[in-house]
Amino acid sequence: MTNDVYDITIIGGGPVGMFAGFYAGLREAKVQIIESLEQLGGQVAALYPEKQILDVAGFAGVSGRQLIQNLQDQLDTVPEVERHLKTKVTNVTRGADYFTIETTQGTTRSRAVLLAAGNGSFKPRELRAENAEAETGKHLFYGISDLQRFANHDVLVAGGGDSAVDMALMLEPVAHQVTLIHRRNEFRGLEKMVKKLEASSVQIVTPYLIQKLTETADDRVQVEAKRLKTDDDLIDLTVDDVVVNYGFIANNKDLQSWELQPKLDHRLVQVNQELETSEPLLFCIGDQAIYPGKDTLIATGFGEAPVAVNTIMKRLYPDRRLPIHSTALKR
Ligand SMILES: Cc1cc2nc3c(=O)[nH]c(=O)nc-3n(C[C@H](O)[C@H](O)[C@H](O)COP(=O)(O)OP(=O)(O)OC[C@H]3O[C@@H](n4cnc5c(N)ncnc54)[C@H](O)[C@@H]3O)c2cc1C
Repeated sequence: MTNDVYDITIIGGGPVGMFAGFYAGLREAKVQIIESLEQLGGQVAALYPEKQILDVAGFAGVSGRQLIQNLQDQLDTVPEVERHLKTKVTNVTRGADYFTIETTQGTTRSRAVLLAAGNGSFKPRELRAENAEAETGKHLFYGISDLQRFANHDVLVAGGGDSAVDMALMLEPVAHQVTLIHRRNEFRGLEKMVKKLEASSVQIVTPYLIQKLTETADDRVQVEAKRLKTDDDLIDLTVDDVVVNYGFIANNKDLQSWELQPKLDHRLVQVNQELETSEPLLFCIGDQAIYPGKDTLIATGFGEAPVAVNTIMKRLYPDRRLPIHSTALKR
């Protein structure tokens, strides 16, 4: 952390914060990105690097890992944009001319702040079943960071949301057999992916809930599942691995302890059409921002980033020209 006063401090280096950092670099703002994890990339890098993302403009399909690598390459074209990793923002206060931002690595100052902190810190919602804790990391997983680890295995995927469906389809060509278990008969997901699931070799087991995991002598795991709304209808499945996808528990309480308090809606930050919060010069984009019709998608956040950055630049430098349209001049 330096004594400099930045034009824009971006809090959160997920995909949206990364793109905002790049775009602010194009606008020649003095900018820094502060990220609490040891890597950039947010949920995409931390939770689903192997997943194929289908709904980012310009890609017929891109893995989470590749998308973040591309964002990193794009950000590297503006090396003057500073990045502070393993640095968590713990408080933001407003002074007469700038915000003071307290972090775990010291204090910094900025004329405008752009929140891009997603859902805050996040962790997977855990399986509540006998022996689940002991099996975590052995036969029970909450994400796929290396698809090949499951090669030729019998894998049970648990969950009924779009991530569980995506995960089952992602494993299908690699694993020996994939089974998808869900407590309801219906699956939520993009229509195209649910159709793909129906046409796949993935075995569907519904409406069942996992109750117990037991390690077998040959280093597999026996899964006991109960049929819902019945007393004693139990089934046993023996597989190599169980991958649970029950969603994530987000902790975005951090912001509530800051002195600066923008208006919230269910812990998300309310913004106007220019992505400004109720606090002047405090902006918010990506999953952390809420407004009518908001979708928490990467594409949405990518669209919000230039709007916020351009509005900030207009405010800080009212005499500067608006962005020229050819970004090619930068290189
Ligand atoms: C399993 C799964 C699959 C998904 N699939 C898709 C998909 O196919 N297509 C799609 O468009 N979207 C998908 N999404 C949603 C997508 O990942 C999010 O919309 C996207 O990550 C939002 O980006 P973001 O940069 O706003 O926030 P995040 O990715 O959440 O990044 C926020 C960053 O801020 C950091 N941070 C938080 N608090 C602080 C702090 N106090 N100080 C410093 N840093 C902080 C966090 O560590 C994090 O790195 C999926 C989500 C999940 C969980």
